[in-house]
Amino acid sequence: MKLVTVSVPVPLRRTFEYSVPTTFAEQLVPGTRVRVPFGRRQLIGVVLAAPREVAAPDYACKPITEVLDAQPALPPELFELCRWTADYYQHPIGEVFAAVLPGPLRRGEVLAMATDTWLRLSAAGQQALATLPARATARRGVLEALAIAPLPRASLLAAQAGAGTALRRALAEGWVEAYEVAAQLPPLALMEPEPTLSAEQAAALAALAAAPEGFSTGLLEGVTGSGKTEIYLRLTAQVLAAGRQVLVLAPEIGLTPQLAERFAARFGAGVARFHSGLGETERAQVWQAARDGTVRVIVGTRSAVFVPLAAPGLIIVDEEHDVSYKQQDGLRYAARDVAVLRASRLGVPVLLGSATPSLESRANAESGRYRHVQLRSRVQNSAPPTIGLLDVRQQALEHGLSEPLLAAVARHLAAGNQALLFLNRRGYAPVLLCHDCGWMLPCPNCDARLVLHRGRKRMACHHCGQIAPVPKTCGDCGGSALVPIGQGTERIEEALRLRFPEARVERFDSDRLRSAAQMQKLFADVRSGAVNLLVGTQVLAKGHDFAGLTFAGLVDVDQALYGSDFRALERMGQLVTQVAGRVGRAGQPGEVLLQTHQPEHPALQLLAREGYPAFAAAQLRERRDFELPPFSSLALLRAEARREETALAFLRSARAVFPARDGSDTPVEVLGPAAATMARRAGYQHAQLLLKCRSRAKLHRAISEWLPLLESHADARRVRWSLDIDPADLF
Ligand code: ADP
Ligand code: ZN
Ligand code: ZN
Repeated sequence: MKLVTVSVPVPLRRTFEYSVPTTFAEQLVPGTRVRVPFGRRQLIGVVLAAPREVAAPDYACKPITEVLDAQPALPPELFELCRWTADYYQHPIGEVFAAVLPGPLRRGEVLAMATDTWLRLSAAGQQALATLPARATARRGVLEALAIAPLPRASLLAAQAGAGTALRRALAEGWVEAYEVAAQLPPLALMEPEPTLSAEQAAALAALAAAPEGFSTGLLEGVTGSGKTEIYLRLTAQVLAAGRQVLVLAPEIGLTPQLAERFAARFGAGVARFHSGLGETERAQVWQAARDGTVRVIVGTRSAVFVPLAAPGLIIVDEEHDVSYKQQDGLRYAARDVAVLRASRLGVPVLLGSATPSLESRANAESGRYRHVQLRSRVQNSAPPTIGLLDVRQQALEHGLSEPLLAAVARHLAAGNQALLFLNRRGYAPVLLCHDCGWMLPCPNCDARLVLHRGRKRMACHHCGQIAPVPKTCGDCGGSALVPIGQGTERIEEALRLRFPEARVERFDSDRLRSAAQMQKLFADVRSGAVNLLVGTQVLAKGHDFAGLTFAGLVDVDQALYGSDFRALERMGQLVTQVAGRVGRAGQPGEVLLQTHQPEHPALQLLAREGYPAFAAAQLRERRDFELPPFSSLALLRAEARREETALAFLRSARAVFPARDGSDTPVEVLGPAAATMARRAGYQHAQLLLKCRSRAKLHRAISEWLPLLESHADARRVRWSLDIDPADLF
C-alpha cells in the first residue's frame, strides 16, 4: 500500500501519515492540498512528500478523503520557502501553510483561473454579414470587426461606441460566439516619461546594475526625497522588459497606495496590492494572478513576501529597517530576512532601501556581503536640516514644551511654513495623580497605569485595552486634587492651540486617525497647506512627504535613552532621522530640535553633529563589544501564566533540559529566567529565557534538539509559551 505524509493546520510540531487510494497517488505532489480525517473532524492538509510504497503498516492509517488540487496550491518554490520558514523559525509547518495560504484556499476552495472573454464570428455570422442591410451600421460594425480576427470583448466594446446592444443581438442570433481565454496582460509600455536622473541617482543605478547576474543584495541608503523610489522604478523597468515580475514590500498598509500608484503611473496595468486590509477574495485573486503571471508588480506588506510568483525577477524591500516587518505573534518571521533568503533561492537580486538602514544590514554592507549605495542629497532641495539638542534641565516647561522650542515653532509659522511636534505617547497624560496622597489609577490587569484620554473622556490601558471613567476623586483618600502628570499628544495639541490660536493644529495618532479615509483627508490638508501645526506619533515619521514643513521638535527623546531594550538607541536614531527627513523645502533648510535632559549623551551628540551613518557606525561598534546582534544570534522563550511562579517554573525546567555544549568556543548562553520588564499584562504574568550564541547555526541546532523536550515537558501544559527567533524586542 502507499502512504503519504501530510501536514495539518494544528499547533503541533509533527506531521501525519495517511494511506492513499492508488487512483490518487499520481496527483499527490508536494504542496497539493488534501482533505483528511483528523480526530472527528475533516481538515485541509498539505502533502509534504510524494506517496511511498510500504509493506502493510501495523497501525491503521486512515485514507485521505479527497485531493483538492490538480496543480499544487503551493508551487514548488513557495512550498520550499514555507519549509525553510518553518525550520528557521521553529514553527509548526501546518501553521506556516495556514498563515501563507489565502482564506479561500485554506478552507479548501478551488480558485478559478482568471480569464478574459473573447468573441469570434460564427458561420451564421458570416452569412448575416453578406445579407444585413447597410443601415444596420452597429451590427455590421461588430460583425466586420470580428470578420478580420477574434477580439477580446473588452477591446471591441472600447473601440466601438454603442456596440453593446448590437453585440447582445448578434450573440442572441448566434452570429457571434463568446469563449474564455486565460487572462493576459496588455503589452508593457511606459505610461509616463522617465525623469532625467540626477548624477547621484545615475551613479547609484549603475552601481546596482553592475551586480553580477543572479542573486545579490543591494542596500540603497538615502533620506526621504533623495529619489530612492525613482531607482526602484528604473530597476523595475529593466526587469519587466525581460518579462519578469517585481515584488515590492512596504512596512505598512498606509504606505502601499502611494507606492502602488507610483508604479501604476509608470507601468500602467498589471500593478496589484496585497495586504491584510483587502478582503479575502481580493487577496486570493491577487495571489492567483501573481502565480499565473497576470500581474507584473505586487506591492504589499510583510505577508506579501509569501505570494507565489510565476516569473520572479526582483524583490524590493522599502524602509527595510522598519520593525513592522517582524510579525509579533504566531509565526514570528521577519519579512525582510525572508525576502533576502527567497531572492537567494530564486537567484534574483533583492534591493533593501532606507533612510536609516538597520544595524544588521549595515553590518552586511561593511563586510561586503551587500552592495552599499548611497544617495546623499535630496532631489528637490539639497541642504539637510540642522539638528540641535535643546537642554531642558532647569527650564520652565509648559505642558512639557520649553520656551525655546515654542519660540522656534512661532518663528517657522511666522515665515509661513509648517511645523511638527513629535511625541510617541498617545492620550492626554500618562498618569493622573492624587496631589494629596500620591494615588494613581492602576490597570486592574497590567503593571501599568491607566492613561488619561481627555478627548474621549476616559482612562485607558495601552497594554490590554481596559477602559474606565475618569475619576473625580482619589480612589484612596477621596481627595479631589487629581492632577495630570506628564504629557501625551492630546495635551501637546491643547497647549499648541492655546499658544497659537490663529494656527490650524492637527493631531496624528491612532486615536485620531480611525479610518484610512480620514487619514488621507488629513494628509491632503497638510499637503495643501491648510494645516499649520502637526502633532503626532510614529504615524508622522513614516514615508509621508510634506513639502511645506521646515521645523520638527521631538518633545521627549529621553524615553529612548532610558529604554531597557538593546535596540532602543538604534530606534531613537532612526526615528529622529526619519522625522528630520520630513523637514526642509526648496531653498529653506529645515531645523530640528530635540528636547532632552541629557544633552551630553554621546549617542545624541553624535547623531546631532554627524548624522545617522556615524551614529549607526558607533552603535554597531558597541554591539560588537557586547556581542549583541548582528554579532550574535538571539532567541527568546516567552512564557505566561496567571501566577508568576508557574511561568518561572516552566522556564527553569526548560533551562534544565537545554542541551549543553561544554567546551565549545561558541557556547550558547542561557540567560534567565526573569520576569519581563512589564511582568503583568492583560492578567497574565510574563517571564522569559534568553538564548544567545555567536554562531547562528549552533543556536539553531541546539534549539531543534531542545524543542521536542520542551513540548513533552509536563510543565509546558501549565503555561502559554512561544519561541521567538531573532526577536525584535526583548520584553
Ligand atoms: P524617495 O523614495 O527617496 O523618498 P522619490 O523617488 O520619491 O524619493 O523622489 C522624491 C521626489 O522627487 C518625487 O516627487 C520624485 O518624483 C522626484 N524625483 C525623483 N527623482 C527625480 C529626478 N531624477 N528628476 C526629477 N524629479 C525626481
Ligand atoms: Zn489621594
Ligand atoms: Zn492593562
